[in-house]
Amino acid sequence: MQSIIDSLHRALGGSVGLAFGYALLGILLLQGLLLLYITIRRVYFEREHQKHSRERLQLLVKAAAMQCREVEQARLVWNGYRKFQVAKKVKECDGVCAFYLAPHDGKPLPPYKPGQYITFQLNIPGIGKPVVRCYSLSDSPHRTDYYRVTIKKEPPPPNRPELPSGVASSYFYDRVKEGDILDVKAPGGNFFLDMAKEAPVVLVSGGVGVTPMLSMANAIAAIGSKREVWFFFGARNRKEHIHKEEMARLAAANENIHLHVCYSRPDAEDCKGTDYHHEGRVCVELFKELLPSNNYDYFLCGNGAFMKSISDGLEAWGVPEKSVFFEAFGPATVKKKAAPVAPAAEAGVAAIEVMFSRSGKKCQWQPGTGSLLDFALENGVRIDSGCRAGSCGSCLVAIKSGDVDYVSEPGEKPESGSCLTCICKPRGSIVLDA
Ligand SMILES: Cc1cc2nc3c(=O)[nH]c(=O)nc-3n(C[C@H](O)[C@H](O)[C@H](O)COP(=O)(O)OP(=O)(O)OC[C@H]3O[C@@H](n4cnc5c(N)ncnc54)[C@H](O)[C@@H]3O)c2cc1C
Repeated sequence: MQSIIDSLHRALGGSVGLAFGYALLGILLLQGLLLLYITIRRVYFEREHQKHSRERLQLLVKAAAMQCREVEQARLVWNGYRKFQVAKKVKECDGVCAFYLAPHDGKPLPPYKPGQYITFQLNIPGIGKPVVRCYSLSDSPHRTDYYRVTIKKEPPPPNRPELPSGVASSYFYDRVKEGDILDVKAPGGNFFLDMAKEAPVVLVSGGVGVTPMLSMANAIAAIGSKREVWFFFGARNRKEHIHKEEMARLAAANENIHLHVCYSRPDAEDCKGTDYHHEGRVCVELFKELLPSNNYDYFLCGNGAFMKSISDGLEAWGVPEKSVFFEAFGPATVKKKAAPVAPAAEAGVAAIEVMFSRSGKKCQWQPGTGSLLDFALENGVRIDSGCRAGSCGSCLVAIKSGDVDYVSEPGEKPESGSCLTCICKPRGSIVLDA
C-alpha cells in the first residue's frame, strides 16, 4: 500500500499525489470495513435463521409428540367402566393409602393430563345403590401399566363427631385389598397442567390435595423438562406428610423443582431442614419471600379454608385470575368471578324460586349464585356429588317441573327430565326431586 502512495506521490508530484494516495487508502479501508460488516451481518442472520429454524423444528416436534399422545389417548380411552385390579395398596400415613390399579384386561392404559382424576363406581356392601367418587391420579401420566390414586379416609366433620366417616374413602381404607377388582371410568377433568406450555408454575397444596400436584411434578420430571416449578406443600407434621420420600426424590433429582414443605404443628422429633422447611401454614407471604416475582401460573388444591386464603392472598398480591387454577375435592369455596353484569341486565332479574320437594325446602336462587348443587348444599339439602364437572353423573337429580341452563358442556347429556346439578342453573322457577 505504501508503494502505491509513493508511486502516486512521484507521478502526480508533491502534496496532491500524497493526498490522492491517502484518499484511495481511506476508500479501500472503508470498502474493507463495509465488506467485513456485511459478512458479520450475514453470518449473524444466518445463525439467527438457523436458531429460529431449530426452535421452529423443536416446536413442530413437540406439537407432533403432543398430537401423537392425543391420538394414542383417543385410541386407548374406554367408554363407561373398565375393570381394574388393585395391584398394590401402600399405607402412606395414618388414614391415607395409595392404590396402584392395573387394568384387568392387561391392555395398555391411555396417557392422561397431569391433574386429571378417575371415577370409581363402588358396590359397597350394605349400601343400596352404587357409590360414585372421583380421585385424582397421583403418579406420572406416562405410566401405561398402572394408575395410582392416593385416598384419605374422610373423618366426620369436627363439629359432628357422631356422624360416620366418609362412605367411599372408609371403604377404600378399611376394606379394599390387593387383588380386588374395581370399576373405573377413564381419566377426565379440566384441572391439568398444559405440558405444551413452558410457563413457570407454582403448585400449592395442603394434605391430600397434593395428589394432582404430584402428578404434575412427576410429569415434568418424566420428560426431563427444565420448566421452573415451585412446589409448596402443607401438612400438620411428618405423620401427615403424604408421599414424603417421593417429593424429596423429585426435588433432589430435578434442580428446576423447588420443594418447600410447611408443617403447621411439627412434632418434637420432626427435623427442620430434612423433614420440612418452614414452620407454619403455606401462605402467600411465603411466596412473596421466595419467588422472584408473582408472574407464575398457580395451581391450588386443598381444603376449603386453605384454598380461600391462598386465592384471596394471590388476588391481593395482584396475580390475575386467569393465572390461578384450582381443584375442589369438596364443595367449592373459591369461585371464579362471574363476568360483570350490566346494571340494565341485572335490573329486573328477580330471584328464582327453587323447590327441593323431597326435603320440603323452598329457597330463593339469586342471580350470581353458583351451581344448583352448591345452592342445595348451602341450604342444607344433601345431593350426592363426585367430579363437580358434569362427567361422573353422581349429582343427577330429577326435575319435577321447570328447566335448567348448563354453564359448561356435560360429559354425557342427561336424560330429559333430569339434570346434572353440579354444572347447571335454574332457567326459571323449578321443582327438583331432592
Ligand atoms: C375431582 C376430585 C378429585 C378428588 N381427588 C381426591 C384424592 O386424590 N384423594 C382423596 O382422598 N379425595 C379426593 N377427592 C374427594 C373424594 O372424591 C371424596 O369426596 C372423598 O373421599 C369423600 O368421599 P366419601 O364417600 O368418603 O365421603 P362421604 O360419605 O361423601 O362423606 C363426606 C363427609 O360427610 C360426612 N357425613 C356423613 N354422613 C353425613 C350426614 N348425614 N350429614 C352431613 N355429613 C355427613 C362424612 O363424615 C364426611 O366427612 C376428590 C374429589 C374430586 C371432586
